[in-house]
This record gives sequence, structure tokens and C-alpha cells, in this order.
Amino acid sequence: MVVMKFGGTSVADAVCIRRVADIVKSRLERRPVLVLSAMGDTTDHLLEAGALAYHKAQVSTGVIERLHLETIQNLGLGAAEGEIVPLLDELKSLLTGISQIRELSRRTRDYLLSFGERFSVRIVAAYLAALGITAKAFDSWELGFVSDSNYTVAEISGESWNLIPEKVLPLVEGGVLPVVTGFIARDAAGTITTLGRGGSDLSATMIAAACNAEEVQIWKDVDGILTADPRIVKNAKPVETVTYEEAAELAYFGAQVLHPRAMQPCMKTGTPVLVKNSYNAAAPGTRIVSSPEKRTLPVRAITSRKSITLVDIVSTRMLGQYGFLAEVFSSFARHHISVDMVATSEVSVSLTLDTVNDLSALKEELSRIASVELRQGKAIVTIVGNVKRSSEILARAFRTCEFLGVPVQMVSQGASKVNISFIVEDTEAEDVVRALHIDFFDRLEVPEPGGGPSGNEGKAGNEDKE
Ligand code: ADP
Ligand code: ASP
Ligand code: MG
Repeated sequence: MVVMKFGGTSVADAVCIRRVADIVKSRLERRPVLVLSAMGDTTDHLLEAGALAYHKAQVSTGVIERLHLETIQNLGLGAAEGEIVPLLDELKSLLTGISQIRELSRRTRDYLLSFGERFSVRIVAAYLAALGITAKAFDSWELGFVSDSNYTVAEISGESWNLIPEKVLPLVEGGVLPVVTGFIARDAAGTITTLGRGGSDLSATMIAAACNAEEVQIWKDVDGILTADPRIVKNAKPVETVTYEEAAELAYFGAQVLHPRAMQPCMKTGTPVLVKNSYNAAAPGTRIVSSPEKRTLPVRAITSRKSITLVDIVSTRMLGQYGFLAEVFSSFARHHISVDMVATSEVSVSLTLDTVNDLSALKEELSRIASVELRQGKAIVTIVGNVKRSSEILARAFRTCEFLGVPVQMVSQGASKVNISFIVEDTEAEDVVRALHIDFFDRLEVPEPGGGPSGNEGKAGNEDKE
């Protein structure tokens, strides 16, 4: 059995769905289970419709309705309308409710966003069935997905590890091709939850790991995990293999290509993950595995994450004292704010947070024990690479920043040691990523600041010693 996940861009319209069907048809002997995202930008459109209902008391589903009904028409699936129209009605009732009671809690938002995936699986399953494949649409909770009630970022509950194979395996063994909603689940009380934006990747890896599948394929609109975000670096290249750890670090530090928690289930079971391009199925894609294969370059990929706040906490009390850091971190815990990078000296600690957090209460609390400075508009640049070459990576990265005249404001080397991250200004991040990409992947010699020869001389070949 293989799990094949198709993202929003892979099922964006009738043409894309035909392409997906071709890919699936040619792999039927591997007994696929399909996991789908909502079509195209449907999730964003649902969010917009929710905001319109909440703020302006308008119920507007035009864009969403057109996309789905036109796709059904274009695929020649008149009968599938019978499944989609009741769901569209339910969506309109929900939006009417939101507009009347002016309530759009995280719980309601999850119910609202669930419609995207519920539409897409029904349409794609109907199309596969029309091609003569025994496909059937499922909402994930019908196949054992139970989550906690942490709406908008729910965690899949432990019991799902048993429930999912109990439901999925008999279907597959019975010759059915399940087409399952990604991204959504239900909590113990039966309320719909979502796993966080991009969460269909996690739904797919969870099914694959729990069912001991031979592989999970994540089909995107790019040739795999690339050496950098292709919207920043035009000539970013696909990476042949990465480890689960490396993929998780990349996702966590901003590479939108995978959901940050998507690697967790497969890391537990060692289930191989393959990232493929549905627009270019012939490309080999990126294989994500437990242990690194022979490497030829020091760096796997470079990524960046913007809108970061840098917090500097300085206290003379820290000198030779214990318990100060514990106090600082318990403040963050009390305010439910998650910290990404940390660097400490004898009297200060610097850390980074997402700027989306409201930090006023936290600042007030911390100010009682130390002097606190918040600096917004920062970006984290992350280099995921070979730990054995960390000195070389750091030297070359700092040389590049120096060459660009970009001061590095904080540095941290992750505990997993596959990542080196540093802070620069938001406005500098893309230039830094591009310059690092040139140095690490295009082998352009970076001249010394004074215009002297490159520090890369004598390292020709970049052969790994592993
Ligand atoms: P889907 O929703 O179809 O699963 P996403 O849009 O979430 O796919 O992720 C794919 C997109 O991620 C690509 O189109 C690309 O623009 C972006 N991306 C950012 N960083 C990377 C990277 N390092 N490698 C590949 N894609 C990346
Ligand atoms: N449709 C959801 C989103 O846009 C989940 C996903 O695509 O994985 O975030
Ligand atoms: Mg996505």
C-alpha cells in the first residue's frame, strides 16, 4: 500500500484532477490511498467568506461555488452535484449563522475550513469512479482520525494509531481506493478540528505510518524539496535525499513545502516519504529517509522565516545564579508563547518569537526581573546542512553576510545540529538567501571584503568525508 497526497495546486481544477487521475491510474497495483487538500485556494476563500460574514454580515460563496460546480461540469460528473450541493447549503447556513451571531471562534473557523477538503474528496472520488476505479470518498473521522480540541492547530490523538489501520486496511484489502480528506479531524466530542495550515501533509504521513505503508508520496507543484524557496531563488534545484530531521527543520524554519509536524509519524516508523511534482511526474523528486546517504555538498537547503521578534533580556542577577532562565521560560509558558531560537551569555539571554504574538503582558512580567528589549522586523535565515562541516558552513555564511554588509544579530546551532540559524533584518533576508545559495550551490567564489581571493580556494570538489 502507498499513500499519495495531492496538495491544493495539484487538484486546482478539472485539468489538474485529470492529471492526478492519470498518475493514480498508473500506480493502482501499489494499492494507493489518496489524501487530498482543498482545491486551489479554497481554504483562503473560506477564510475570506468567514471574515465577510463576521465583519459585514454578508454571506458570499460565489467563488467557492463556481469553482466546484464548474469542475464537476468540466469533468462530466453531473451526478456528483448531488453530493456537493447539500454541503454548499450547509456552508451557507454556517455563514448565515456567523453573520447573525457575529461569532467566529477558532472552533467555528475549523468547521468553516473543513468544507474545502470535504468538497475535493467527493469530486475526485466521483471522477475516479467514473473512470471505473472503485474509489470512495471519506471524511478523515470515518477512517479513525481523532484529535485533541486545540482548534486551528489540533494534534492527532494516540488512539488514531490503532483506529486508522483498523478502518483503512480492510478497505484497501477489499479493493477500495479510499480518497480521504487531509487537514481535518474530529475531537473526542465529535467537533471538527484542523491540524494547522498545510496539515494535509501530516494527515498523509499519519495514515502511511499507522498502516505501515511501503511509502508516502507528497505530490506538489515543484520537483521536490528544493535548495531554496523558488520564489526567492529562481534557479533553486531539487534535493535528491534529505533525512526526516532535515526536512522537519526546513519546514519549521519557513520552507512552506511541508507541514512542520508532517515528519513526526514517519520518523517513528521509518516509513519513507517521497516528494513529487504532479505537473512533472517524470522528475525523480526528493526522498526523505532515516539516515543520510553519501553527501557531496555541505549544505542541503537554505530557508528563511520573516516577521520575527528578537527579545533581549539582560539581568545582572543572572551572573553566577541559578533559576533565572527557568523564571524567564516559565513566563513564556504562562503566556502560551513559543520560543524558536535561544542564545545566552553570562548576563543576558536573547530569543526569537513569531511577531504575531501580543507581547505587552509578557514584557511587563519580564520587566520585573530584568531589562527587556523587543525588536521587531527580523528574519531567521536557516542553513540545513552537514553537521561535520559546521565550521566551514559558518565561516562561509558569515563571509557572505560580511560581503553583503549585513550584520548578523544572533546565531544558534540547533540541538539536532542539522541547522544553523541566524537573525538578520526582514528586509535583508532574501538577499542573504540568494547570496548564500550562490556560494553553496553555484560555487561562485565570494571575494574577501577587500577584494582579495576567495576563502573557498583549495576546497575544490566539496567531496564529503562521511
Ligand atoms: P501544496 O499545498 O500543493 O501541498 P504548498 O503550496 O503548500 O503545496 O507547497 C509547495 C510550495 O512551497 C511550492 O510551490 C514553493 O513555492 C514553496 N516552497 C518554499 N520553499 C520551498 C522549498 N525549499 N522547496 C520546495 N518548495 C518550496
Ligand atoms: N487546505 C489546507 C490549507 O490550505 C490544508 C492543506 O492544504 O494541506 O492550508
Ligand atoms: Mg500546502
